[in-house]
Parts: sequence; structure tokens; C-alpha cells
Amino acid sequence: HDHAARYREMTPKSRKFHERAADVTPLGVESNIRSFDPYPFYTESANGSYITDVDGNEYLDFLLALGPIILGHNHPKVTNAVQEMAEASDITATPTPVAIEFMEKVAEMTPCIERVRMSNSGTEATMHALRVARSYTGKSKIAKPEGGYAGAHDYALQSVHGSKEALGPAEEPNTVPHGTGIPEQVSETVVPIPFNDKGNTEKILRKHADDMAAVIIEPVMFSCGCLKPRDGYHEFLRDLTEELGIVLIWDEVMTGFRLGPASAQGRFDVIPDMATFAKAAGGGYQVAGFGGEAEIMNEIIPPGEDEEGESWNSSAFHGGTYNGHPLAAAAGLATLEVLDGGDVYDHIDRLGNRLFTGLQEAADDTGVDANVQHIGSMGQVYMTDAKIHRFRDTWQANEEQFADWWIEAAANEVIFGNPIQDERFFTTYTHTEEQIDHAIEVAEDAFRAVDH
Ligand code: PLP
Repeated sequence: HDHAARYREMTPKSRKFHERAADVTPLGVESNIRSFDPYPFYTESANGSYITDVDGNEYLDFLLALGPIILGHNHPKVTNAVQEMAEASDITATPTPVAIEFMEKVAEMTPCIERVRMSNSGTEATMHALRVARSYTGKSKIAKPEGGYAGAHDYALQSVHGSKEALGPAEEPNTVPHGTGIPEQVSETVVPIPFNDKGNTEKILRKHADDMAAVIIEPVMFSCGCLKPRDGYHEFLRDLTEELGIVLIWDEVMTGFRLGPASAQGRFDVIPDMATFAKAAGGGYQVAGFGGEAEIMNEIIPPGEDEEGESWNSSAFHGGTYNGHPLAAAAGLATLEVLDGGDVYDHIDRLGNRLFTGLQEAADDTGVDANVQHIGSMGQVYMTDAKIHRFRDTWQANEEQFADWWIEAAANEVIFGNPIQDERFFTTYTHTEEQIDHAIEVAEDAFRAVDH
């Protein structure tokens, strides 16, 4: 059965764009994960809960730009803030009040953040956070969970995916560079740990403790679907990293300002030393950043004397032409003002429960083996009846069946994230109960249409 037949029929202009795009950019897309079979639709506009493509199809959106769209597309407060700022100033690369106000708001809302710096992507944020942690500890290695994605720089692109053969023993996974072009010398500084496996996480961290600068970890592993932390895992990691003198960095690029006003650290009541954020913090604009305890973040201050006249040797560099871009800062500030104290989290979590439990019921009713896992407004459908606690459990999910289900739903103008099993999708503030119920109906038809 050709599950993409109807999708192809309704997207002739997108197909033409794709042919054209392939002549100017590899894969015909701006970022590798936008590419899928048969070809992606090309977007004309986005508003509220919908994306309109160049053929005029209107997709009910649960991809939500991979996370940023927490208030719906083009929330009027965000759009107005950006328009007003665009008239006042483009970038000047001089400090601005709006960026300071945004950073104050981030620090006020985020438990672990006393000092913060802005960047333009999650990738930059994690890269800089790691350097600061190395500077602070004087050590060079970092640990990250296997199966985790912490951005597209060389230190993070290690053991992101991989087969059992490549990743080796679950107790002590191999470091596997994600793709070519990554120096061996970098891979040697990265140590994978098994998320949700306390015993082996502890063995590995103790073994490398003398060289280990930081553990960088997503509080919920959304980079392989939706792996929730087992009870006590984060508390255990908090205590152990403290004991071993390792900086605990929570990579809240996905969860930051999404799982609540105080992010995952508020939701789970565990306070890391440092955190990164991006996506939801910008409400659709290029906002990212990293922060933490003042003592750690002050590593960024060049050598000299500190406030008490003590001399200072550290100098972990952080810079960037576009850091704190006024448009991004204005969008971020407007977004956080709507998020803080409003009803956004109640709304998106309630609709998240409705969506993800509805999807589980739809799968069960149609006899498809699926396990829907979610927390709040974020979740994923794993095409397997197995419970998924660890990264390696995700290998049991049926990739092909997921892609077929996704494209069947897309052909009915509902997009459940990306057609990739180890991603996830979201609810947003503009979603309504009617939209959720419609999406569940479309999903049910799509479950019926896949082979099982
Ligand atoms: N960290 C996590 C947990 C992410 O999910 C992502 C992106 O999806 C990144 C870092 C990288 O962020 P960006 O795509 O903005 O570079």
C-alpha cells in the first residue's frame, strides 16, 4: 500500500519546490531533519494552530516548529513586540535594555539561574555551557546520555543514535560519533551514560570523575521520543555529581518554559548547577541561552580582579554578533510575560492529556501496538506495546509503521511532529478541544490504514 499517494496528490507545488530546492541546498532542506519521504511540504504561512503550505493545504500543527510555538503561531503580543522593535532598531551589537529585561525575567523564573548569557540556538547554548563547566572545574570530559541530542556541535554529536553493534554494552556504552567529520580527539572526551540506569550511571561517573567536567542531560529525554525519568534518577544524579565535583547541566532547550514557568527544574524540584534554554523561551524567534550559579557563570569574566579585589584567572570565552538580538529579546520577553502567571500551562497540559490519552485509546481500538508516552504538553507515540524506559527500549518501536501513520495523518492535514520515531510533538495555547478531538479522529483513521 502506498501510504504517501494522497499526500503527493495534494502537494504538487511543494514537489516542484523540492526539485528546485535540491539544486541549491543539500537534500532540498535547510536542516537535515526537515527531509522525509517522499518530500516535505513547503510552508507559505502559519497562524494560530495551523500551517498553510504552498498548495493551500491547512495543517493542524503539532510539530510547532520542534518546540518554540508554545503560544500558537503569531501570538499578537509576540508579533507586536517584534514589529515595534523592528521599527525602533535592528541589531547594533551594543547592549540593549530589552535583552537585559529578558535575562532578568529568565533568572527570576528559573531556579538555578543567577547569571545568564544569550545565544541564538540551543546548539550554541550547550556548546558554551560545556566550555564554562570545563573552565570552572579545570577538567575536560563530559558525560551525556546515549540516545540524547544536545545540539549539532562536535561535543554533543556523540552516541546520539546507533545500533547495538556500534554502541556496545548497555552497562558501559561506546562513544560513537554521529556522522562523519567529527575528530576522534573530541569523541575521546565524551562519555555516554545510560539514562534511567542508576547503577551503571554511577559506575561510569565514578570511573571518570577525576577528568569529568560536566554531565549534560535532558530532564526528560525528548530527543528519543519521550523518556520520563524514573523516580529518584535526577535526585540521585544531583547528589552524585555534587559529591564528585562534576557540574550538572540540565539541557532545557526542549523543556525550558515548556514544562512550566520554572521549567523542568520547577516541575521535578531538582536544581542543577547550570541550565540551557531555547525554543519556547522565544515564542517562535531565535532565542537561546545558558545560565547557572554566579560562581560558575563568572568563569566568563576575563582575567582581572573580582568585586572583592581577588585576582581572577579564568577566561572562558563567550561572544556572538547576534547575541541578544533586539527582535529575539523582544519576542522572548513578550513570550515570558504571557507565560508567567497566566493560564497557558493549565491549557496546554490539559489538552496534552486529552490528546495523548486519546491517541492511546485510538491505537488500542484499532488493534495497533502503540505505547503513547507523555508529560504535560509533550509526548510521542511509540509503535510497540513495550514500555519504554531507557534509550535501548526505543529500538523495539516500528519506525516504518510510524512513518506510514504520520503521512496518512498529514494527508488529512494533521501533522503529529515529524515522521521520525525518535522525535516528539506538542500542544499549544491556541489548540482547542475541538481541534484535539479532530486530530484524534484523523489519527484513528491513520492507525487503521497502517499494516498491523
Ligand atoms: N538540546 C536539545 C535537548 C534539543 O532538543 C535541541 C534541538 O532540538 C538542541 C539542544 C539544539 O537546539 P538548536 O536546534 O536550537 O540548535
